Amino acid sequence: MRPTGPLHLGHLVGALHNWAALQDTHDCFFAIVDWHALTTDYADPSAIRGYVREVALDWLAAGIDPDRAVLFVQSEVKAHAELHLLLSMIVPVPWLERVPTYKEQQEQLRDRDLNTYGFLGYPLLQAADILAYRAQAVPVGDDQVPHLELCREIARRFNHLFGEVFPEPQALLTAAPRLPGTDGRKMSKSYGNAIFLGDDAAAIRSKIDAMLTDPQRTHRHIPGNPEICPVFATHKVFSDSETIAWADDGCRTAGIGCRDCKARLRDRLGAVLAPIAERRRAFAADPVRLEMILDRGAERAREAAEGTMRLVRAGMGLGR
Ligand code: SF4
Repeated sequence: MRPTGPLHLGHLVGALHNWAALQDTHDCFFAIVDWHALTTDYADPSAIRGYVREVALDWLAAGIDPDRAVLFVQSEVKAHAELHLLLSMIVPVPWLERVPTYKEQQEQLRDRDLNTYGFLGYPLLQAADILAYRAQAVPVGDDQVPHLELCREIARRFNHLFGEVFPEPQALLTAAPRLPGTDGRKMSKSYGNAIFLGDDAAAIRSKIDAMLTDPQRTHRHIPGNPEICPVFATHKVFSDSETIAWADDGCRTAGIGCRDCKARLRDRLGAVLAPIAERRRAFAADPVRLEMILDRGAERAREAAEGTMRLVRAGMGLGR
């Protein structure tokens, strides 16, 4: 995960819940990829270090357990850079140019100069992040599948040229529920529509109060359409079936008002986020413990990645 800001409910349901469950079934490596943050934000890296800490706290608060998974910062494991360099020798440039997000992001982020090698090469760095651990599987969303396909192609090419070193990592696709932001668009820090894991009760309240509803429902007595309402979409992700049915029916029949609907959501999100906020506060209050967790994670990651690098160097005829 790139450290580009505090994490929000979209990260919780889209990734962190799934990651926490994977700790029971897999040997997991979770990396805060700070070098990747530089691919788009190299001109002003001043916030990256702070975000690394925030992301680590959010992960721990959401249930990533340093005793059951390896949690580390990418730039503390130099093998990622070495593997990126070595793989760059065998990857044709058109493979990188045809990754769909390459052109898309250049279009979208017009305010930044993305004509750098770092930006073109970020799917290759991603491949190095994965292959450094000879990973069997990677939890990804639909949008990341082309990147993982590239990673598999690179693994095949390396194995063909230098002998079997890398397994081809499989996509662990999980159907993440659709969670819009408070304005109905995709939840994102840059849209200003996110509810963050670190938000306190007052912040949650004001964000839910300001949440968009069915725009046709301008009065309490006018029935609404919950299917186009972000409040209802959020109920569908977090509330129990009884509450969802209550909101669905009450909205369509004007049996409830938007205020009632939002009050229930506020209570529910309060209950979901309170234990997360509590754990976050406890970890934040003990910076020495956080340092130790990240140090130990980096050590374990270095050890695993170094094992891979020995095979890679030998295969490529490097070293004495
Ligand atoms: S009653 Fe609930 S679902 Fe219906 S428009 Fe209002 S907030 Fe949205």
